[in-house]
Amino acid sequence: MPKTSLKSLQPTLYQLAEDGRTLDFFFVQCPACGGLSFPANVPGCTHCGDALVDAQKVSRPGGGELLEYVTLHVPLVPGVVAPRIAGDIRIADGVVEEGMIAAEDGAALSPGVMLQAVAEMRDAEGVYACRFVPANAKVAS
Ligand SMILES: [Zn+2]
Repeated sequence: MPKTSLKSLQPTLYQLAEDGRTLDFFFVQCPACGGLSFPANVPGCTHCGDALVDAQKVSRPGGGELLEYVTLHVPLVPGVVAPRIAGDIRIADGVVEEGMIAAEDGAALSPGVMLQAVAEMRDAEGVYACRFVPANAKVAS
């Protein structure tokens, strides 16, 4: 079991994976076309529009291909420290989500790199949030 008492900031979207560091995303698998939609509570299939009645919820390691990104130099909301990097990430075939990317600098990023979703521990708040990091990044220990 994950070795943290922290709770997912968005429990319908992701949970801590077995390794205690990365995140698993929740998708729903369409019974009509087999495609994955996100989040799992979408009202209809992203791909074919099926109503997803009795569709199966599945979890997959969070991450995907970076499509494009922008560095934000202005705090958009209180508590968010600039600069931050926001990107569009293809987390499954035909499914693109915007996410916050944690990278030392933008130099390691370019469209096409693979990203991995990891937990950003916020002990003071008792939660963990989702951040994307380059999948080949070395983890400081
Ligand atoms: Zn479908």
